[in-house]
Amino acid sequence: MKAAVYFNPEDIRCIDIDSPAISQPHEALVKVIGTSICGSDLHLYSGAMDPIMEKGQSQTGHELIGEVVETGNSVGNFKTGDRISMAYSCSCGECYMCEVGQTAHCETTQKAVYGFGVPFGNMNGTHAEFLTLPYADAHAIKVPDSISDQAALTLSCNLPSALIANKLADIQPGENVALIGCGPTGLMSLEIALQKAEGNVVAIDKLAYRLKVAEEKGANVINSSEEGWQELAMQHCQGRGFDKVIEVVGYPETLQMALDLIRPGGTIAAIGVFCDQEFNLVLADVFLRDISLHMNGFANVQPYMWESLRLMERGVIDPASLFTHEFKLDDIDKAFKTFYEKSDDVLKVMLRP
Ligand SMILES: [Zn+2]
Ligand SMILES: [Zn+2]
Repeated sequence: MKAAVYFNPEDIRCIDIDSPAISQPHEALVKVIGTSICGSDLHLYSGAMDPIMEKGQSQTGHELIGEVVETGNSVGNFKTGDRISMAYSCSCGECYMCEVGQTAHCETTQKAVYGFGVPFGNMNGTHAEFLTLPYADAHAIKVPDSISDQAALTLSCNLPSALIANKLADIQPGENVALIGCGPTGLMSLEIALQKAEGNVVAIDKLAYRLKVAEEKGANVINSSEEGWQELAMQHCQGRGFDKVIEVVGYPETLQMALDLIRPGGTIAAIGVFCDQEFNLVLADVFLRDISLHMNGFANVQPYMWESLRLMERGVIDPASLFTHEFKLDDIDKAFKTFYEKSDDVLKVMLRP
């Protein structure tokens, strides 16, 4: 079968590999209908995780809409022909961490993540024609026909993460909110935040075309690549700082932006995927200003998949509208390059085998 495999930084190729087969009773074999590329995959693509990837072996991809082809004997929630999505992290549903909702820290699978190389469980990936899901019952979900393939793909990672960002921020009606990062997950976080604080959300990004989308959704927008952006932002909260800041990028600079924008007693929900080892957090500042800082980039998606589905079914949010490009799996290199370079006003890409 065809599958995308990591070779080198900026070199992920679609090659022929052996097709997967069920080897455990808790596994399901799934035919990929569609998949996508996540912002976190760009850490792979850029080479930031090069030392931990097995070149020519490690598969990529963790966002799925697929059809069940075969199930192991102990799989009870799904049958052949079911249309499903899954959480990006493979969790067992029975260990202590799964029971307390920390599914990304599953003790049985040792924090296994689809398509992220040997340190994350050496799992197969969704950028392929087929894949197996161990412990399928615990972290996959049936998708109703009314949900499009594109929308369903966001159940694996982006939409539950956006929901988590909003839970952590705990926005109260009328509060001033700043949202840093208008990629797909940022824009979904924005849509949910706007339900609580309509008219009071400032979206910040460096890319004009992404800010345009945020503006159309109802946000006040500020381009942080322009001189004086911070003063401009502060005008939206009477100069005292924002009640809540949601960060959806994952760089030290953007976390610093969040700290610069938050008011005393405010809450920061940082769900960007941070790969840097160090950050100069001034403890006295955080302590004296009574800042609550939540960081949850390694998101516990599974517990929020059902609620994400409800948001879509009720028409509260429409993630399909964020899909701007579709590629064949064969053209995975082109898809990665487009998304990485943010060319052609790309937001979310769909890949079909
Ligand atoms: Zn992801
Ligand atoms: Zn577990």
